Amino acid sequence: MPVRRHGGVKWPAELKRAVQAGGYACGANTEQDLGPMVQMRKKDGNMSLLDGKKYHIITFGCQMNEHDSETISGMLQENGCGEVPSAKESDITIINTCSIRENADKRFFGTLGQLKKIKEKNPAYIACVCGCMMQQQHIIDTVKSKYPWVDIIFGTHNIHRFPALLEKVYREKQKVLEVFPDSAEIVEGLPAKRLYQHKSFVNIMYGCNNFCTYCIVPYTRGREKSRSPEDILAEVRRLASDGVKEVTLLGQNVNSYRGLTESGKTCDFADLIYRLDEVEGLLRIRFMTSHPKDLSDRLIQAYADCDKLCNYIHLPVQSGSSAVLKRMNRKYTRGQYLELVEKLRAAVPDITISTDIIVGFPGETEADFEETLSLAEAVQYDSAFTFLYSVRTGTPAAEYADQIPEAVKHERFNRLVDLINACSARKNAAYVGRTEKVLAEGVSKKNDRMLTGRTEGFKLVDFAGEKSCIGQIVDVEITQGRTFSLAGRVKEPIPGKKKE
Ligand code: SF4
Repeated sequence: MPVRRHGGVKWPAELKRAVQAGGYACGANTEQDLGPMVQMRKKDGNMSLLDGKKYHIITFGCQMNEHDSETISGMLQENGCGEVPSAKESDITIINTCSIRENADKRFFGTLGQLKKIKEKNPAYIACVCGCMMQQQHIIDTVKSKYPWVDIIFGTHNIHRFPALLEKVYREKQKVLEVFPDSAEIVEGLPAKRLYQHKSFVNIMYGCNNFCTYCIVPYTRGREKSRSPEDILAEVRRLASDGVKEVTLLGQNVNSYRGLTESGKTCDFADLIYRLDEVEGLLRIRFMTSHPKDLSDRLIQAYADCDKLCNYIHLPVQSGSSAVLKRMNRKYTRGQYLELVEKLRAAVPDITISTDIIVGFPGETEADFEETLSLAEAVQYDSAFTFLYSVRTGTPAAEYADQIPEAVKHERFNRLVDLINACSARKNAAYVGRTEKVLAEGVSKKNDRMLTGRTEGFKLVDFAGEKSCIGQIVDVEITQGRTFSLAGRVKEPIPGKKKE
């Protein structure tokens, strides 16, 4: 599929200023140079400078980053590169960074430090950094000053330009920096080397307009922009015809998806789900992430109407206290969140629900925290990602005076985790004796005689079964409920499903 661009990139004057001090060249010399240059291999069959190069990608962070790494990998493979399992075996290493939490920052700098030795042994080695952290000037400055072995710095808005940047480094023997502050463009048709054979991520939108006060994403991923429904449908049809059974639709807040159809009409997220439900060969649709303030009644209805939409939702609550939610700028109250859960359970009684919770947000009192505990108890989550609040430079909450002492945060965190884990274990124990439809994804990492997969409700299951089940949805009898997963055995393949 040819690469297409919608919208445009404004030539960022800041870019020229940003690169001047660090010995880096701009990726492009003029605004015209910014065209898509994914495929560097020459049409006459001559080799590109990238042919035969070995690359390794290290990815931090969310599914969005994982999917960006799949795209980087796909572009490199189209240009004749091959993936290797470690940085030291590679000619090119790419670190795709995440800035959502302090811990990810630290791990990034630690990993970057390790590349120095490789560069010392092999001066032709190319070290590249990209992702959300590179959208922050103070991080770029740190990389430039303290990690001079980095050859390419690029951002979240110009991933499609990576092969061109690499060629420039090889050709001109100069370091390159190209980071755009934001971009209204969407580049379609980029190749991706999928991490999984039978399931795939599909970006439906990029960016975020919500500005939760603790979150750096709107500053690193820019404003919301939605792909057209036709482009998404075409991608999902291609994936389904290539054997993909399950897609996970990705966006920072999929509920605010607003795609423009070819005829100029607006397609919202529920419309998109109804259209995807028709795709032949596709068996499951999931999505991530869903902001409670934008969860519509039509989407709840779609759960009831669309067979392929899995009965599972990840609905981040962040806090059970309306006062904290207000300071987080979440734009819903505890009561409104609980109402949504009630509506979801009324429409889909067996829906499984997971969430994200931040502990120790500035100003969180013991009473606020107890409201979080009571909300978790009331909702009875199937699972939850719990986080200690960490200061993100550049966000409003970083400036709040009433930061919570670490010891208090940790004590609250432990109480919450105990409650969440007890609830998960109880809910998982109730699955014993049930038969669940599980997409067999592969051989279990813990035990190579077992398979692993997910139920419709996103529960991880290790189960005994033939390898020929991989890629199929099989009936699994659940024999054990653990805190974080289930165990079971295949009952029988679904009649009529082709074995691979
Ligand atoms: S909705 Fe809030 S938490 Fe999610 S990406 Fe946007 S700003 Fe961050």
